[in-house]
Amino acid sequence: MSTEPKRIELPREFPGVHYYGVEEEQAVLRVIRQRSPFRYYGANFLAEADSLEKEFAARLGRKYVQAVSSCTNALACSLAAFGVGPGQEVIVPGFFWVATVGAIVRSGAIPVLVEIDDSYTIDPADLQRKITDKTGLILPVHMCGVPTNMPAIMEIARARGVPVLEDCAQANGATLGGKQVGTFGEMAVFSFQMNKNITAGEGGMIVTDDEKLYLRANAAHDLGVPWVGGQPVQDSEYAMWGAGARMSEIGAAVVRAQLPKLDTIVATMRKSKYRIRQGLGDRDGLSWRRVDDPAGDSGPFLIAMFDDPGQAARFAAEGKRRGLICSHLPDYGLHVYYNVKALVQRRSNASDGWPWTHPANAPLVRDYAKGALPQTDALLDRGVALAVPSKLTLGQEGAYLAAFEEAFKVAQG
Ligand SMILES: *Cc1c(COP(=O)(O)O)cnc(C)c1O
Repeated sequence: MSTEPKRIELPREFPGVHYYGVEEEQAVLRVIRQRSPFRYYGANFLAEADSLEKEFAARLGRKYVQAVSSCTNALACSLAAFGVGPGQEVIVPGFFWVATVGAIVRSGAIPVLVEIDDSYTIDPADLQRKITDKTGLILPVHMCGVPTNMPAIMEIARARGVPVLEDCAQANGATLGGKQVGTFGEMAVFSFQMNKNITAGEGGMIVTDDEKLYLRANAAHDLGVPWVGGQPVQDSEYAMWGAGARMSEIGAAVVRAQLPKLDTIVATMRKSKYRIRQGLGDRDGLSWRRVDDPAGDSGPFLIAMFDDPGQAARFAAEGKRRGLICSHLPDYGLHVYYNVKALVQRRSNASDGWPWTHPANAPLVRDYAKGALPQTDALLDRGVALAVPSKLTLGQEGAYLAAFEEAFKVAQG
């Protein structure tokens, strides 16, 4: 009979909440005491979301910022801003979050999956191959805290005249060559959901330097017409259909309290991550996900790459038994294209099968079952994601190393 191994106690992986304090408390109280929960007006109007937008824009150095209720809605409103829809392809990596691909399908466009490389983000060579005259947008995802190779992606995109929307949900506060994620593409989106680097539980953000894209995203996020100077412009040239996806003032106030903490949260995770990685050293059969610029890594995850996929699976199981927060990547739920049943089965929210059945999409529809991306499948088989909690003591890092060591030994067999 095998006995259960000793489990280490780690803080949960939710980065932002570990930094909740008096600032977040006061933020919520301020909104409640002023009875000002709505972002566009009120008796004692606080304009928290307005202020958050200005602060977020200043931090990134971008001209226009639109707060929304979630990053899922930020994606949907951004796609609407670009006018993406039936007859168009949107390129996205096969390792993502379901919200990313879901926004594409719900826009009416057809997702085109591209391979990842050993960075576990878009492989620029495959991106180059998959752009067609139907490509309406490229949607790179900065997965697991690390920026994707934006200079390469932007070069390919510009050469082909295709706009780029960055999904920064998992990498708020990350940089590449000193440049912040969310400042490379024509537009970018962020999330303040609880698993992300800063959080109000829910919330999202859209950023751009393009006034027209901004006004369209603003219109799409709420009424279908943009708010300008605190008023909805009823007779707007941008009139379309809105999602009612406003950010709440309580959420905005909490994100405002978190934003000044972002650099500390990210630096703390990054330091823990690289101390742990260094502590583990080089070992036979194991390498690490490629990170082009470790100084700009936002730090919430390690990805261990095993030469042997069987060993990766055993390691993840053994790591979990010992209290590591880890997942063999094929089991990483709705982050993996072939795990998204609605994608593989080309499901619809509508009874007529739209958008797969739309005539303009007929020549664009493709297969999304496992095997569609062989290089990605192999990388996922070899990979194990390990969360790096945002407030580890050196003692906890030591326990992390010891648990890794044991799981690694057992997995080696
Ligand atoms: C979390 C996440 C989203 C969605 O964010 P929500 O705020 O939860 O809607 C989108 N894309 C990626 C890559 C994510 O990780």
